[in-house]
Formats: sequence, structure tokens, C-alpha cells
Amino acid sequence: MSKIQMTTPLVEMDGDEMTRILWEMIKKELLLPFVDLKTEYYDLGLTYRNETNDQVTVDSANATLKYGVAVKCATITPNAARMTEYNLKEMWKSPNGTIRAMLDGTVFRTPIVVKGIEPCVKNWKKPITLARHAYGDVYKNTEIKVEGPGRAELVFTSADGKETRELIHEFTGAGILQGVHNTDKSIESFARACFGYALDTKQDLWFATKDTISKKYDHNFKDIFQDIYDKEYKAQFDESGITYFYTLIDDAVARVMKAEGGFIWACKNYDGDVMSDMVSSAFGSLAMMTSVLVSPSGVYEYEAAHGTVQRHYYKHLKGEETSTNSVATIFAWTGALRKRGELDENKELTVFADKLEKATLSTIESGKMTKDLALITSLKDVTVLSSEGFIKAIRETFEAM
Ligand code: NAP
Ligand code: MG
Repeated sequence: MSKIQMTTPLVEMDGDEMTRILWEMIKKELLLPFVDLKTEYYDLGLTYRNETNDQVTVDSANATLKYGVAVKCATITPNAARMTEYNLKEMWKSPNGTIRAMLDGTVFRTPIVVKGIEPCVKNWKKPITLARHAYGDVYKNTEIKVEGPGRAELVFTSADGKETRELIHEFTGAGILQGVHNTDKSIESFARACFGYALDTKQDLWFATKDTISKKYDHNFKDIFQDIYDKEYKAQFDESGITYFYTLIDDAVARVMKAEGGFIWACKNYDGDVMSDMVSSAFGSLAMMTSVLVSPSGVYEYEAAHGTVQRHYYKHLKGEETSTNSVATIFAWTGALRKRGELDENKELTVFADKLEKATLSTIESGKMTKDLALITSLKDVTVLSSEGFIKAIRETFEAM
């Protein structure tokens, strides 16, 4: 059998710990035997990030801007414990944060739905994709603890020195204050990423804020989305048969619980933080979740939603058998390969990606899975496999297809 050829390389961002081990196994068992894999390789493992003063992360993001599609392994975000463990020169920033800032992207997370792992919400038949705005609001706030009586005002001084003031509150006693902001530029990027992703995946887009209460702040989000939709996307949405739906956040939450799924839910930063954990845990597990960073200029970075699974890695280092779920990492690869195939009009590559995903899901549906899924599945005859055993079982299913 001749291997599938690629025309443009994928940007490959290797990572840390257990996911780095899975990365290698996935390539060896599921990709290299079938695809003449072309990648531009960047080692984002912490050791090499430290050696290069984190330049490798910046280089990998630049390569992503150049080629358009990247696949990323989970990476360690250093904390105090990692400083000693890896003998770091500095507490390097989160690679995801660096890459997100350079690509100006929005992260879309979608549960991977498989028979035997049922969502807790019984009417959810199709996945719900959550799109979280990742800039501003309470995550970039300024706060004051008010000790006693006084007047609090919101003051804006324009570049030419003109002041605008709004009374916040006349305090008669102790209290608290918080200032938050966002920028039109960031909201516009978020909106375009959401509309573009909805077209790309042919799903309806929902967006919600609290604009009835927040008549300027949240209303601005609503207006920007509506304006961009009308001017740039409405015709394409009509043509694709998908809709853009705006409602209040409390109404959206109520409707999501009653819905079937199969749409994208765009959320402001805080709503997205809270609701993505609700949606992902109700669907099963972080290891059964895809995650893609989409920039408004149409650049894609695929990754797993979970971390480096440190606890399993230490077991692995001691020579003990692990049963780590590789589904999200496999889907990061298939997502990137499919997108590369679409952009290069390489049908063989998109078909390969689809097939490998099917083989992964059929393997689970046939009762072969890792321990985390065995604990939550409704299937009866289950075989718990090791990390490597599971990947090999997927290969068998794939080859039989
Ligand atoms: P984690 O790697 O997501 O793992 C937390 C726990 O969740 C694991 O101990 C395991 O539970 C379970 N789990 C997660 N993924 C699994 C999988 N694929 N298969 C089976 N079980 C899985 O989070 P963490 O331990 O808090 O973080 C470890 C490192 O990852 C940190 O250094 C953090 O900075 C980094 N991180 C990276 C990213 C990223 O690159 N996108 C995201 C988050 C965290 P049991 O131990 O109970 O089996
Ligand atoms: Mg959170």
C-alpha cells in the first residue's frame, strides 16, 4: 500500500510528560504507516523551551501563521515546583497563552460523542461546541476594597485630555469596587472567529450576554456581533442554511439544557469559563474533548483540552503500566490533517482523518477502552487496555476497515 502524500507541512508542536509519550505512540502506530507525514517540528517540551529562552514557542506560532495549520501536544505551564524539577532559568509563560496572543484566536471546544459514554443531560444528542472569548472583563480587572464612606466614580481621560465621569456609588460604609474593560478590536476578532467557525462546521451560532442590564458594556458585544453578521456573514449563513441566534445569557442557559445540541455557543470570557466546565463534564471527560484555536485570519491550531497527565507520567517513569486516554490527542492530529487536506484539496488526507476518527470511536464502542472511560461507560463487556494497547487496538480496527 502506498502512503498518502502531503503537499504542505503541518506545524508540529511536541509537548511534555505523558502526552509526549502518547504523541510518539500515535505517530508510530497510527500516522507514519499510512501517511508520508510532512511536518515542521517544534519541540515545546519544557526542557527545550528553557534552553531556547522560550524562543521555540514564538517560532512555532510564527510557523503557524505561515503555514496555517498546527497540531499541539499538551505542555507544562511552569509553577514553583517545576522551577526546581526542570531547573528553569525563568518561570516561562504558558505556551498556550503565548500562542493565543500571537494568533489572536478564539478557542472552540467540542465533546467527542461516542456510544457507551452518554451525556448526563439525556436530551443532548449532538455535541455542543463552546467558543470562549479569551480577553478582558473580570480576567483583566482592577479592584479596590473600600474601607468607609466616600464617592466612587468611573473616570475616562481621552488622549486629548477630555474627562468623562460617571458616578458609581456614594458609599455610606465599607464595600468593594471593580473596574473592567474590553476593546472593540478584540470583540470583533472574537465575532469573526465565531461566524467563520460556524460556516466552516455548518452549525448554528448562539451568542448571549446580559445586555438588558448592562446597557453599554454587554450591549456593545451584542451590537458588534450583529453589525459584523449583517455586513459580512448573513448572505453566507443563508446560503449554508445555518442561523445566528442572539438571546440573553439566562435564556441561553435554559435553552441549552433543553436543546439537542449540534450548535456553537459563543460566550463572553466569564460565561465561557464557567459553562465550558459544565458542558465538558456533562458530556463525559476532558479526554473526550477536541480543542481548536481559530484566528480571525483563518489560522488553526489543534490540541487536546486536557493537560500533560503528570500523575500517569510518573507511573510510566517507574516502569508501571498506564492506561491514559489518547482520544483527544488523536483527534488533534486528525483535525489538523483534515484541515490541511481541505486547504490543499487533498481528498485522500481528509478521508484518512475521517477514517481514523471512526476507527477510534468504533474501538471504544466495541468495548475496548482506557480506564477513565471504563469507569463511566454504560457498555457491559469492557476490556481495559493500557495506553499503548488502546492505540494498537485502534490500529487493528483501522486496518480492518
Ligand atoms: P491534567 O493533565 O489534565 O490531568 C488531571 C487528571 O485528569 C489526571 O491526573 C487524570 O486523572 C485525568 N486525566 C486528564 N487527562 C487524561 C487522559 N488523557 N486520560 C486519562 N486521564 C486523564 O491536569 P494536571 O495534572 O492538573 O496538569 C498537568 C500539567 O498539564 C500541568 O503542568 C499543567 O500546566 C499542564 N496543562 C497543560 C494544558 C495544555 O497544554 N493545554 C492544559 C491544562 C494543564 P487520574 O490521575 O485520576 O487518572
Ligand atoms: Mg475554568
